[in-house]
Amino acid sequence: MYEDLSVERFMSGLRKRNPNEPEFHQAVHEVAQSVIPFILDNPRYQDAAIIQRMTEPNRTLMFRVVWEDDNGNIRVNRGYRVQFNNAIGPYKGGLRFHPSVNLSILKFLGFEQTFKNSLTTLPMGAAKGGADFNPKGKSDREVMRFCQSFMTALYRHIGPNVDVPAGDIGVGAREISYLFGQYKRLTNEFSGVLTGKALEFGGSLIRTEATGYGNAYFMEEMLKQRGDSMIGKTCVISGSGNVAIYCAEKILQLGGKVVTLSDSSGYIHDPDGMDTEKLDWVKDLKVKRRGRISEYAEKFGCDYFAGKRPWDVPCDLAFPCATQNELDGDDAKVLASNGCIGVSEGANMPTTLEGIDVLQKNRMLYGPGKAANAGGVAVSGLEMTQNSIRMAWTAEELERRLHNIMVGIHAQCAQHGAEDDDYIDYVKGANIAGFIKVADAMLAYGVV
Ligand code: NDP
Repeated sequence: MYEDLSVERFMSGLRKRNPNEPEFHQAVHEVAQSVIPFILDNPRYQDAAIIQRMTEPNRTLMFRVVWEDDNGNIRVNRGYRVQFNNAIGPYKGGLRFHPSVNLSILKFLGFEQTFKNSLTTLPMGAAKGGADFNPKGKSDREVMRFCQSFMTALYRHIGPNVDVPAGDIGVGAREISYLFGQYKRLTNEFSGVLTGKALEFGGSLIRTEATGYGNAYFMEEMLKQRGDSMIGKTCVISGSGNVAIYCAEKILQLGGKVVTLSDSSGYIHDPDGMDTEKLDWVKDLKVKRRGRISEYAEKFGCDYFAGKRPWDVPCDLAFPCATQNELDGDDAKVLASNGCIGVSEGANMPTTLEGIDVLQKNRMLYGPGKAANAGGVAVSGLEMTQNSIRMAWTAEELERRLHNIMVGIHAQCAQHGAEDDDYIDYVKGANIAGFIKVADAMLAYGVV
């Protein structure tokens, strides 16, 4: 029936069915380029229209979120949950609160989550959600009222065996706590319905660190494959949120040198490199004081570049850890010409399709987010396990498991992404390895 399957035809149909969703088109296009040739070699997936089914979310929820600000004004936002695929486990994926949130961004994130969660080897389906609410500049009480209203709309659609949301941009420990408190109030049930919870009420050690640590581990594995290591490497990081901070921390532990961090206003360049003391100061700045990264330059006497991204700073390794499409083709060319040998993505889809092309043509190591940042959702999966067995593992045990999972993800990518010249195409490897598990489950269920 789908004999004429080709990337171009498939993408043209997808664009028609999902107009004005450029981020979703971009994420699907990247997967289609590696998975469609694989499907053509394995007709059972083509006959069952697996790729057509995997690119259509199981369910998309959109809802009004009404709340009252501190001045008594009634405010209205739009909330979402895109339940993408539950073939291999309950829907699982973060919530993002940011003014840029729209259906296209959440569909790209939910789609990518399908492959990422599959790669972890844990039983988790895929979802993503959030709202166009901007927590910046809001008081704690305003954020609480927003979260309570958001959860009042969402709670009937989620549950520990149905859909387990977590944090993402703009949703950290504070927001998860308010959301969990409201879920508990509405359902009269204490369950592992959210991950990223505080330790006092079912959270997991290492969850906060997991995405950033995992990203550094993934880079270490890519380097190891080439007989190299992180020791002495100069590293450039974008972002200064949860992922960026803990990526920097693990790079330091593995012997690398971190010289930049950024936020949406600009980046700092500290040529001497950061140490744990400076990083602890950043944690306090970003988590407790909710300040700007420019303050780092004032505090430690280094340069700050307003309105710029850090990719023109000469480095050995680059770690985009802020947001989607923050590293384009021109940035990739600058990295390559400055001698950078590898990019590992802490953020989701931070590199444009042109950027990926440049990195791969230069035979640079390139770890796509769906593999390199899967450590976060992996420890979320371990949080679900701990909630189910009503036990808490130690930090050492969890970090050991996280490390093993990242090594395993790297091995799956290397297996499916090996090229003739010994280069590993990690995009192809991640997409095919992630696809097979979900596709086989869908085949087994028949037409549902
Ligand atoms: P945070 O909200 O903690 O931090 C986000 C960081 O990125 C901040 O420094 C922020 O700066 C910056 N940023 C956000 N939007 C932009 C923008 N448009 N341009 C430039 N900088 C921007 O989020 P996380 O660290 O949790 O998430 C970062 C990325 O990692 C996202 O792509 C997320 O999807 C991905 N990710 C996160 C996981 C997690 O466990 N948290 C798991 C897997 C992936 P500012 O403060 O100025 O907004």
